[in-house]
Amino acid sequence: MRRGPRTDPNPWSDPGRRLSTDPPMKRRDFLRVAGGAVAGGALTACSPEADAPRVLPEADRARPLAMAGARHRFTAWTWVHGDRDYGAAEWRRRFARLREAGLDAVLVGGGDIELVSGAARAEGLAFHRWFWTLNRNGDQWAQDNHPEWFTVSRNLESSLEHPPYVGYYRWVCPSRDPVREYLRGLVGELAANPAVDGVHLDYVRHCDVILPRGLWETYDLVQDTELPEFDFCYCGGSSRVHNLM
Ligand SMILES: [Zn+2]
Repeated sequence: MRRGPRTDPNPWSDPGRRLSTDPPMKRRDFLRVAGGAVAGGALTACSPEADAPRVLPEADRARPLAMAGARHRFTAWTWVHGDRDYGAAEWRRRFARLREAGLDAVLVGGGDIELVSGAARAEGLAFHRWFWTLNRNGDQWAQDNHPEWFTVSRNLESSLEHPPYVGYYRWVCPSRDPVREYLRGLVGELAANPAVDGVHLDYVRHCDVILPRGLWETYDLVQDTELPEFDFCYCGGSSRVHNLM
């Protein structure tokens, strides 16, 4: 999935905010609201039957198949912020409402994996981990210990010190062997965790050298050519790539 920067520094959808203020919704109402959220930029992810979560309790596992009665049943998933200050009971209360609304799985970024996964599964939801791959804005360890891993613009400025477009655009360079080894380790660790049903990689790319046309006014830019401050990477990390240093 490819997402450009937003004016909102937090690019996640926020189902928790809705849940905290609104009364329970019937499935039909939820789908209508969810449809509006998609139009507004938030995400409800869908996957075909072949990718359906496989960890639902027995009772729930039979339900979608019986309901569908057809060969093309889609499951509905949604992003969730895992770093809320909720205990297990509150997570379960919220996940129960998602399940009741017809959702099948959550894609969770941040937070305690075991706590949130346990609550999700207890309510019949599969737990998937959302992973920011090359954009490592939240990776304090990498920033403190390996500033040289971060991509460098054609202006020779690091995205660590000069994040392009928005403050959270701090990217590591995939041309560096230690970066690939590091990320492989992080993803492998998640994939090996029995509390995690799947790992989803976001930001598997460099920073956008040219934004979609519809965002130029948002950032007061005219990008009819590749501007040096948005052109990455020139860190000299590998002779096999296009580094010009
Ligand atoms: Zn580089």
